[in-house]
Amino acid sequence: MATSRENGLPVPDDIIDKILLASPSFSSLKATRLTCKQFNRVFQSHPNSVVRAVAYNITGPALPQALECIRHPLIPIHTREPPYRAYRSVTEEYGDLSSAPITPLETHEIMLNSNIVSWLEDLFSFRYIDRTTFTSQLSSSESRAFCVSVYRLMLYSAIADLNAWMEVFSFEHRDHEGLEHRNNIEKGRRTFSCLSTRELLQLHSIAEFLREILSFCALKHGYPDDICDLAVVAGPAQILKYFYNEADIQTLDDISYYFEGEPDFLASVSSSPHIKILESRNIEPSPNFAHWHSISSRVSEENSQCDRCQNSFGFSAYCRSTFLEISNGNPCYRIDMASQRNYGPQRIRQYLKGRLQYNSTEVVPFIEKAGKLGSSLLLQIWDDLWRLNLVQQQSQAQPLPQALPDWKEDSYLCNLCFTNFLIENLWIWWRHIKSSSQSLKEDCCHGFTCEMQMSSVAHTEEFNHLCEKTPEDTMR
Ligand SMILES: [Zn+2]
Ligand SMILES: [Zn+2]
Repeated sequence: MATSRENGLPVPDDIIDKILLASPSFSSLKATRLTCKQFNRVFQSHPNSVVRAVAYNITGPALPQALECIRHPLIPIHTREPPYRAYRSVTEEYGDLSSAPITPLETHEIMLNSNIVSWLEDLFSFRYIDRTTFTSQLSSSESRAFCVSVYRLMLYSAIADLNAWMEVFSFEHRDHEGLEHRNNIEKGRRTFSCLSTRELLQLHSIAEFLREILSFCALKHGYPDDICDLAVVAGPAQILKYFYNEADIQTLDDISYYFEGEPDFLASVSSSPHIKILESRNIEPSPNFAHWHSISSRVSEENSQCDRCQNSFGFSAYCRSTFLEISNGNPCYRIDMASQRNYGPQRIRQYLKGRLQYNSTEVVPFIEKAGKLGSSLLLQIWDDLWRLNLVQQQSQAQPLPQALPDWKEDSYLCNLCFTNFLIENLWIWWRHIKSSSQSLKEDCCHGFTCEMQMSSVAHTEEFNHLCEKTPEDTMR
């Protein structure tokens, strides 16, 4: 190896080597190699081990499973583009799938899959461990258990190849390709039998996690919950696409409908592969929330409970940090895009109390103001309401019939409770904004419930409707 003087650089080759080995991604490795020819020369002296080291930097200790889920011989060949066939023969040549050199095509798949796995880990941590942040708070051993299980389910979904079901299991092909595919799935299921009970229980938790995400998506789009039986065969990558509206759940509904008459078939291929193996070992996963402890003993139910109604907020937590994230223009993962649009400048007026949303005298300037605030709208409303003590005043003025906890500035709310918060308080916010630039007209005695808001502009221009209805006895 060249010393610093021989290579013409102020650093010796072994330091350059360490820099290459520490690359956090394949693109940064490439950029480093291109820096100068000495760097590339050091890389070329042992390219395979450098690429493997970088792959490890990306996937962590789950590298064997990350490689397995792109190299396993049971993954149907038709799911690959033609160039991918080449590396199959390379890995077969080496016999041991995990030790074959990592090809350039594989580096691409490793990156794609590791992004999916770490997104899921962030989502899991936010949902079950620490809702204050959307960066995984799992310890290294918890993270390893999580990632290994996700990669294993990724492998199973790649073997099961749900996208091919309609074609492969259709009546014309059922005898030949269908049988072969089904045998493959069965072989894939058997590979799980070599796992320890602990690993199977971890797999169970991740399968349940996928199911929960899919259930959240199904509910949001109005699909029946029974399509969630397909969560494990759909696999982590596909479920994340549903979560971010990048794929249509209709496909799952179609499959569910198509195989409706064959419940045995569906049960045999769609159930998670670990279930039968655990049964044969007389092991039952812990019921309810406790099974999450297979991944982390720090999982707590309170972390995902709405502070107002105590129900689970699922994957949509409405809190100040959510509004701050939206305001900063960064991608916000705490609530989905459809909800973000729903509470955006164009649609938020639907939460103005009573019939105010039909009052053009109010709605036109309201939309204008909301539009000006743009992505910081929710943050501004939230902060104004608390800074000016408006929420407290409103709660005292209108106590609710049922005993619910007070709204709090640091609350984590579910979608339903946040909607209720807006209905109670958005009009108060708008009255504050309006009254700070002009004096309000005389109150209409029907207040925000006044029906004339829908028909008479002359009336809405003459009277203020940002007020409660005047009590009957004072009207007489
Ligand atoms: Zn709630
Ligand atoms: Zn009126």
